[in-house]
Amino acid sequence: MNRLRHVLPGLLLLTVSVTSHAAIQIVTTTQDLAALAEAVGGEYVKVQSLTPGTRDPHFAVAKPSMIRKVFRADLLLIIGADMEIGWLPPLLQSARNARVQPGNSGHLDLSSAVPILGKRSGPVSRAMGDVHAKGNPHYWLDPRNGVHMARAIAARLGELDPEHAASYEQRFQAFEQTMDNKLPGWRAELAYLDSKPVIAYHTSFVYLADAFGFRIVDEVEPKPGIAPSAASLSSLLTRIKAENIGILIMEPYYERRSARYLNEQTGINVAVLPQSVGAQKGIDNYFDLFDAIVAAFKNVEEY
Ligand SMILES: [Zn+2]
Repeated sequence: MNRLRHVLPGLLLLTVSVTSHAAIQIVTTTQDLAALAEAVGGEYVKVQSLTPGTRDPHFAVAKPSMIRKVFRADLLLIIGADMEIGWLPPLLQSARNARVQPGNSGHLDLSSAVPILGKRSGPVSRAMGDVHAKGNPHYWLDPRNGVHMARAIAARLGELDPEHAASYEQRFQAFEQTMDNKLPGWRAELAYLDSKPVIAYHTSFVYLADAFGFRIVDEVEPKPGIAPSAASLSSLLTRIKAENIGILIMEPYYERRSARYLNEQTGINVAVLPQSVGAQKGIDNYFDLFDAIVAAFKNVEEY
């Protein structure tokens, strides 16, 4: 009896550690994907993002810590559409984890779960710009796409972990319900933008514009990924004046000089929009992101 008393606490500890070890290890390329994975995975997953939401997701430097994360992952979630083309392939190669290689069940490219805008027909060349060769990869900025992404993640988790499939499905349904409740409020707040022309710094907000009914008529970047020149800024300035374009939207990680210059010359309002979960303090989940975007639209920068 005495001996049993000593053994039991040990057994309990062992059970607990096995359970937590059995959590599905999810690694994501961005914090938006991590937030969605946490929303549908709940207690059965452990989620880590390879990049922070404060950074431009087109670029990352593969670090040993990132390789270790990919090596241990059961499931890798990526944005796809070439968003991570500059940094993920060498990471996948170094990590030598067959589970998460493209085509295997531990690899989920969420661009396959949403309608991709801006797909090009015909050959693609560098003359078209540095990025977005396979269409526009900024699709997580349409809240309706968040629902598609969450559904795809829940389905894949259910395949990898059938024991908890019902829980993933239930959590997805709750996520979809929350979105249904929140979207009309965001739309009402941004209703003043309806059909208005807007300039974006990079072609990242086409999905947001699609969801909230405004029009992006031009970009500060002359081509995706190409910095503006004096000549391109000058022709943009002419257009802003001629068409009386009232608002410029941009991510926090781009240079501000061009926006400041356009603001000084034309009076255009500049709204710096957080583009990802984690881009700012307080944006901890996917719903926070759109709350913060709506707030940022109303908080234009004065120069
Ligand atoms: Zn981009």
